[in-house]
Amino acid sequence: MEYGMEERKIRVLVAKPGLDGHDRGALVIAQGLKDAGMEVIYTGLRQTPEQIVAAAIQEDVDCIGLSSLSGAHLELFPEVVRLLREQGADDVLVIGGGVIPQEDIPVLKEAGIAAVFTPGTSIQETVEFIRKNVRRHESDSQAPAGPVEPPEQIDHIGIAVSSIREALPFYTEQLGMRLIHEEEIADQQVRAAFLAVGESTVELLEPTSSDSPIAKFLAKRGPGIHHIAYRVRDVAARLERARKSGYALIDEAPRPGGHGKLIAFVHPKSTGGVLTEFCQRISE
Ligand code: ZN
Repeated sequence: MEYGMEERKIRVLVAKPGLDGHDRGALVIAQGLKDAGMEVIYTGLRQTPEQIVAAAIQEDVDCIGLSSLSGAHLELFPEVVRLLREQGADDVLVIGGGVIPQEDIPVLKEAGIAAVFTPGTSIQETVEFIRKNVRRHESDSQAPAGPVEPPEQIDHIGIAVSSIREALPFYTEQLGMRLIHEEEIADQQVRAAFLAVGESTVELLEPTSSDSPIAKFLAKRGPGIHHIAYRVRDVAARLERARKSGYALIDEAPRPGGHGKLIAFVHPKSTGGVLTEFCQRISE
């Protein structure tokens, strides 16, 4: 992905609190984040939580990556979070890494560390986590250039169901909608049934595995409206605009959806609770 000069890069402070004197791991992470187009500030070794938080605020970072090999992570990481809160900077994402026993991870998460990456984690995974979870400071968001044309129409509404078979009669028999297509979308672990309403569709989404995003949605919220998809001419341009404006993206780039579409999602946490999809028809 190309990063233009006009765009504010994600800024990450990589810090090593505590007394251990090894920073190879932290340097590897710092380089990986830089390679991914982020602005990385490295504090050097043996920083106190106070120094780290002061640097984070001064450098106006979006994320702090804490690395620890010293075993003092249970004190030092939560202290960083506490100091950030105290200073009103709790919108800074804090993640941790290093040699951290599995049993400490829930404790750290409870204390506000958003994620803990142990030595097996790929840099790509860390990069993706940061991109998905940083909350850009409002004042830093750049207003997108120029007006935007409205979406062409609602492309479809995605509805999470436990069973397409059980859900269908309401749509086909009661509402008289036509079932136009059914398809299993393997990488989403979902089966979708498409029902026509004018030029739009209602998509019934049934999980095909208990790990699928739809299964998780059903477990958490029960059946119901899952997302709204707007048909647009250019998903990539929409995504770029949303990203520049500081919206949390689920997809960094357009990807193939079901039924000859190119799609991308914007996270509901930045859209007022509605999982929002951009959808471009690439074939019929
Ligand atoms: Zn959809």
